[in-house]
Amino acid sequence: MKTNFFGLLFALTILTLTSCNNEGVDEIPTSSAEDSIDKNSEMYLGSVYNGKSSSSDCSFEYEGAEGPEHWSMLCGDEWLDCDGNAQSPINIVTSSVIEDGDINNINTNYTNSTTDIINNGHTIQVNYDTGSYASLNNIDYDLLQFHFHTGSEHTIDSYRYPMEMHLVHQDPITKLLGVVGVFFEEGDENETLENILENVPENPNSRYTCKNVFDIRDLLPENLEFYTYNGSLTTPGCSEIVTWFVVKEPIAASHSQIAKFQKIMHKNYRPVQELNGRSVYTK
Ligand SMILES: [Zn+2]
Repeated sequence: MKTNFFGLLFALTILTLTSCNNEGVDEIPTSSAEDSIDKNSEMYLGSVYNGKSSSSDCSFEYEGAEGPEHWSMLCGDEWLDCDGNAQSPINIVTSSVIEDGDINNINTNYTNSTTDIINNGHTIQVNYDTGSYASLNNIDYDLLQFHFHTGSEHTIDSYRYPMEMHLVHQDPITKLLGVVGVFFEEGDENETLENILENVPENPNSRYTCKNVFDIRDLLPENLEFYTYNGSLTTPGCSEIVTWFVVKEPIAASHSQIAKFQKIMHKNYRPVQELNGRSVYTK
């Protein structure tokens, strides 16, 4: 009897830990109530740096009348940075990259996180539990979230990868951002990505949460050598508060995994921006 009771308890515990099903999917309230603001979104992080307490209600797209060439004019004077001189993404011309032996490697202190996936209508964003951080060229940044673009936003010698992941980190003191870009190329199925994909909310403005844990380290290539330059958020308001770390080695995902992201997010990369005298560095 006793064994059965504990057996049942064990089975229930396992069930609770491993199943999140569709109960995890919630519509994000559209009201502007404080608790409905996604404080890890780029728009919010940009507005906080600029001394505002909330993100704007303006909207943007990746084509048409609200496409990238119009972004700076879509929100009064709030998104004027989209027309700035230090914008991202860029095309990285490898023959022009400057070698600097003083640049430090990426040192990650990442731990695992429960699952919190948001479809915000522009990207699939995965919020990361607090406590993971990375030292990016000697500055400690907290990892807040990562999200995806199809195809890649940065290009290397004009080559565009099918997908790019952005790991958004924030310096807790200055509120400046350090974003690590990781390219995906077509290859073997990526198991960790599959776990995310299985639970991605397909409708815009919906969210999936679950206590199941996963590890961002399983989504990174072995070699974290990078190109670095000063730039901006690649979505409005395009705040020029980002030090970019674009990892050279891509990671693999299968054709159908990339296709599924593409189907949900459509084309969500911003065209490459002028360098305007900026340099790109590598170690
Ligand atoms: Zn991004």
